[in-house]
Formats: sequence, C-alpha cells, structure tokens
Amino acid sequence: MLLFHIIVLTDIILNALLPRCAKHPAWEEETSLQIHETIPCIGKKSTQNDLEKRSFAVDHIQTNYPATDWTHVYTDGSAEKAVRNGGAGIYIKYPGGEEDKISIPTGVFSINYKAEATAIQEGAAHVQSSPHSTKNIVFLTNALSILQALKSSKNKDLNDLTSALTSLSQTHTIALQWIPSHCNVFGNETADLLAKKAAALQQNGYTTTYSEAKTIIHAQQHEEWLQEHPNHVQNDAYHALTRAEQVVIFRLRTGHNRLNHHLYTKLHIGTSDQCTCQTGGQTVIHVLQHCPMYENIRNLMWPQDTPMAQKLYGSLEDLRRTATFIPSVAMLFDVFM
Ligand SMILES: [Zn+2]
Repeated sequence: MLLFHIIVLTDIILNALLPRCAKHPAWEEETSLQIHETIPCIGKKSTQNDLEKRSFAVDHIQTNYPATDWTHVYTDGSAEKAVRNGGAGIYIKYPGGEEDKISIPTGVFSINYKAEATAIQEGAAHVQSSPHSTKNIVFLTNALSILQALKSSKNKDLNDLTSALTSLSQTHTIALQWIPSHCNVFGNETADLLAKKAAALQQNGYTTTYSEAKTIIHAQQHEEWLQEHPNHVQNDAYHALTRAEQVVIFRLRTGHNRLNHHLYTKLHIGTSDQCTCQTGGQTVIHVLQHCPMYENIRNLMWPQDTPMAQKLYGSLEDLRRTATFIPSVAMLFDVFM
C-alpha cells in the first residue's frame, strides 16, 4: 500500500514539475508540421501481402513527398528484448542525392519507444544543421505509438522530441508519415539495420524516465515468470482475461504481491510474515486454500476442493473465479492487493 502511495505521489509531483502544461502541443498553432498515421489503401495485415503494402507505401511517398523536393528522413529504433540496450537508426536521403547514415545508442535502460523517439529527435537535429537539407522534410517511421503520442497533449516523455520538431518547424515544412515495417521499403530497412547496429554499440547512458522504468520492471517480472514456468504455453487462458484480472493472476503466480509473506521475507516490510488469522504465514497457498478467515467465501466460490494448480493455471473459468475471489476477500478484510 505504501508503495502504491509513493507511485501516485511521484506521478503527481512529476506532473506538477513538468514544463508542459499547455492543453495542446505547441505546433498546433502553427501549420508547418503535419502528422499522418495512415497510408490510403493499406489495411490490416491479413488483407495484403508485404509486396502490396510496399507498393502502396512507395507510391504514397513518391506522390506526396517527391524525392526532388523533399528530404527523406527514415528513422527506426531497436532494443534488446524491447527493453534494454536501445539503438536509434537514421537514414537520410537528400534531394541532391547525398545520404547520411547515423547510429546512436540510446542507453542501457532503453525501451523501444525511447529508441524510436530518439531516432526522430536526432534526425531532426541532424537535418537542421545539414547543408544539404531542403525546405521540405518528411520523417518516415513505423513507430505509430510515437505519432499518436505526439498528437496528444499527454506526451510528457516526449518533451525533447517535441522541442526538436518545434524548433525545426520554425524554418522548415515538416511532415511525419507512418509507413509499414518490414516490407522492404529501402529507407526503412536501412534505418532498421542502423538501429540494430546502434543497439550493439557501447552503451553509456543509464538515465530513464519514470514510465520507462515501469515498463522495464514489468517486462523483467514477466520474463522471470516465463523462466520459472518453462511449460507455459501461449494458449494459456491468462491471455483471455481482462487486464485487471491478469494483474491479480500474475501477482499470485509470481508471488510478487502484497501478501505479508512476500512483504516480510523479500522486502523486509512489517514485523512478521504471519496472516491476520495467526494460523500461518500469509502466502498465496494460505489465502487460496487454508486461511480460516476466508473459508465461507472460499466455499461459495469453490463448493468442491480445488487444487492450487487449477485455480492458478486452469481454464478461463478457473482463472476468472480466482480473479474474483482475491479482490472480494481483499475488500472484505482489507489486507492485500
Ligand atoms: Zn490466514
């Protein structure tokens, strides 16, 4: 509970300290920056093969950003297992025929998102100072989440990128265009290779933002859990649960929860690992199977004796039952989760 309060408090403090408090991104008042999240004719994966997507993408780029007038900045990000040793790749093609190929490591604690954002940001800084740049500059990226975040006023992790683009838009006409990934668009494939090369370079940066740290920790816990459960299969009913239900089941399966046993033995919080009932340590098995405090509600949920494995790794219905039981007892007895 304390941890939760610290997290909420940190969020409030961060929000209060961050310089961006405008309702809309700075460039919405100006018109020299446009963000395009789609390409006409490119639909869902199942409807088109890579060749068709490539053809539509190349055609769209040539029609809207002809290489004779526009500097093309292809960017891509890469991170090991999506959460560490990030790399930003930038491939720039100027109308005069010159090229720039740039690889920048983005840090030990770098998620894909940060690597993608850094690639666009560094690309913006680079074209701003390049003698080969033209008035029109298009950034071509497959990082849809970045483009969506840039359009929103809540992109607090993208302040540096926002500043770089705002600065560039004072003197240039800028477009940010989504393109499909891995369908052999030359510039995109080149940026992808440059990003992978960057990720393999010496990493010096250790800084990370609060929300990146949360993503990294969550991915790390998930990875540990997968290692502890090698027989885990993708058709685990867990994946069909709601996000809230998944959180409950995940905490029970991993043992990373707020039960006294975990708090006391792993985090050294509290005075003992004992359950309020004083008949044993407050472990997952104690709560699910034995604690006398929850006996009535447990009998209601599971009229027959049900093994732990079924409650945690059974069918969708089994998992849903467990995910309902835990918040019910937590609410009634105000002890954990
Ligand atoms: Zn108990």
